[in-house]
Amino acid sequence: MKALVKAKKEIGLVLSEVDKPSIGPKDVLIRVKTTSICGTDLHIWNWDNWAQSAIKTPMTIGHEFMGVIDQIGSDVKGLNVGDRVSVESHIAGTRSRNAKAGKLHLDPDTVNLGVDRDGAFAEYVSVPETNVVPLPDSVGDELGAILDPFGNAVHATLSFDLVGEDVLITGAGPIGIMSAAIAQHIGARRVLLTDINNERLVLAQRVCNVETVNPTEQSIADKMSAMGLKEGFDVGLEMSGSELALKEMVENMIMGGKVALLGLPSNEISLDLSKVIFKALNIKAIYGREIFETWYKGLALLESGLDIKNIITHNFEYSDFEKAFALLNDGKAGKVVLHWS
Ligand SMILES: [Zn+2]
Repeated sequence: MKALVKAKKEIGLVLSEVDKPSIGPKDVLIRVKTTSICGTDLHIWNWDNWAQSAIKTPMTIGHEFMGVIDQIGSDVKGLNVGDRVSVESHIAGTRSRNAKAGKLHLDPDTVNLGVDRDGAFAEYVSVPETNVVPLPDSVGDELGAILDPFGNAVHATLSFDLVGEDVLITGAGPIGIMSAAIAQHIGARRVLLTDINNERLVLAQRVCNVETVNPTEQSIADKMSAMGLKEGFDVGLEMSGSELALKEMVENMIMGGKVALLGLPSNEISLDLSKVIFKALNIKAIYGREIFETWYKGLALLESGLDIKNIITHNFEYSDFEKAFALLNDGKAGKVVLHWS
């Protein structure tokens, strides 16, 4: 079968012919239909420091996808050949304290699809039955392919009670934009989304009708008072990984405000903790999704009318993967989808 493989320890990926995966008694073989490219995949393409430490070659990459069940293992229950499904890409262990307590997203033995084991940028992928999530008919194939990053947004945005609250989101990448849409959908009072890239703010406006600002053009404090906020934002979602954005967020939070951190800084950053302490801020780090609570909540949000489809800006056939990665490396796209069958 065809697969996108990190074949050698160098920049890029190759479209290769590889063996179709075999499945064990508790596994499911999925015929991949639609995949989406993650920031993680870009790191792997670019072969940066993180990728060099994380990826053993050869590795079929990719973890954001949907497809149709092609084959089920002999012990698999409750899933059928032909089911439309997506997959939680974190394959948790069973032995740690957190895994035993059902907190699968906090299991240190987790293996990641498309990073630690062969992933979904291929015609077929094998996954444990426990990671399979059946899709409702109302969730189309393209949307089904981006539920993994949507889940990051759901997990971060639902970390704190946003109903009637004023929310600051720094970083208008796809996850920041989806978070803004979720915050608005669940009843936040005001939502301000920031980015230093105006094209991203334009994309955000195509997905949701929230306030936006480029902090290099107008300060967040000025924008905040123009929005009628006097004491600061109640909830902050840091999605950029930028030191400056985090500092500005801390400056513009209300006393006792709540901050979720999802953006990954590429280097060590500094923060004046006395400001965090004197503001009595409540900071929470977000990693992955709550398995499987986030999936239930996320699908429920989509079924209750949350519309994020405009975050998908480009569609390609898998054979055009080089164009897709170039587009993302230029920072010119939202979510980019590759079609396999
Ligand atoms: Zn991803």
